[in-house]
Amino acid sequence: MMPMNQDISAHADILPANFYSFTLEDLQAYLKKFGKEKFRAQQIYKWVYESRVSNIDEMSNLSKDFRGELKNILNFDLPPVIKHLVSVDGTQKFLFDVKDGNTVEAVVIPSDDRLTLCISSEIGCNMACKFCFTGKQKLKRRLTADEIVGQFMQVHDSLQKEGLGRRISNIVFMGMGEPLDNSDNVFKSIEVLHSQWGINLSLKKITVSTSGIIPEMYKVAQAKVRLAVSLNAYSDEVRSQVMPINNKYPLKDLLEECKRYYRATGEKITMEYVLLKGITDQVEHAQKLVKLLKDIPCKINLIPFNEHPGSGYERPSDETVQAFHTETMRLGAQTLLRRTMGRDIFAACGQLATKIDHPETMDISNSKIGGTNARSFSHRQPSL
Ligand code: SAH
Ligand code: SF4
Repeated sequence: MMPMNQDISAHADILPANFYSFTLEDLQAYLKKFGKEKFRAQQIYKWVYESRVSNIDEMSNLSKDFRGELKNILNFDLPPVIKHLVSVDGTQKFLFDVKDGNTVEAVVIPSDDRLTLCISSEIGCNMACKFCFTGKQKLKRRLTADEIVGQFMQVHDSLQKEGLGRRISNIVFMGMGEPLDNSDNVFKSIEVLHSQWGINLSLKKITVSTSGIIPEMYKVAQAKVRLAVSLNAYSDEVRSQVMPINNKYPLKDLLEECKRYYRATGEKITMEYVLLKGITDQVEHAQKLVKLLKDIPCKINLIPFNEHPGSGYERPSDETVQAFHTETMRLGAQTLLRRTMGRDIFAACGQLATKIDHPETMDISNSKIGGTNARSFSHRQPSL
């Protein structure tokens, strides 16, 4: 067995690596490089994910020498929470510091039967969808797997501290960024979150939402997680107008890829459809949409446009939204009207952005959108 110190110098460029980026198998392989037995990885995994202990000194079944060595090769850093807002409807938004002055957001959305965490995969997004707040910012950086897992862990710890007795039951990659533009890190984070030695979250409870990066979509089926597609239009003409990616990957090919996903998994696809006043919200648009999707095993998720400064789009009236919903159902499509959550804390779909580029999001705890009921408090770091 190689002496520890000697081997460390050979890995000095990557040390200490972030624990949260490792699947159990990766950690076993990593520790092996330093001459450590397989079961060590399991011991550490248990401390962190079962007992939520990440202070190496408290890992009492590891020898003092090993604990000393571990400090040189592993860190347990989580992205610090720099703002935590709670909406009047129970939605919570967390703003994370992801270094170099950048921030990303995650949102917890409660409903009767589930607690969904919406997480970010990138800082900014290059897809430039016209209606999306995140899309206004160019991609600054893709998040690492530990930054993605870290969002979950921070929120998980915060909920435990609040003592509400609820745990995150579902994860949706519908925060900032295009997950399939960061596939390696997104699917690695899914492996970590799914691991039976870790969080043990069911794959059926994880949804990856994409604007339609066709060459990467097979990975969603491969990972056995749910697929959501931001369709947002009933024709190529309209889709290209609001989502530039449609010029590269048009509807026909996108829907073909959706069928392939269904054949591989047997799971219906969620089609997200943002209702933009006068553009995608008319009854005849509903008819065209249902026709477009007639061969696709899917459910439609209607999202009334969430307004943000300078978007140039408007939210349709409740009556228009209702008429659209009714028409799709009359035509036999399985359609859900997504309740808008967290508007008062600027946490609704497509409203997420970094405070650096969008200073108007800085003072949202006092924002007029939410009146005075929205709460803001600084986050207490988990005592690990
Ligand atoms: N990039 C991925 C996931 C993040 S966007 C994707 O596009 O699928 C998550 C969802 O928010 C998408 O369905 C998108 O269409 C929707 N969305 C973006 N901006 C919105 C807005 N202003 N109002 C309502 N929904 C919006
Ligand atoms: Fe990016 Fe999704 Fe926003 Fe489009 S909707 S800009 S893909 S985050």
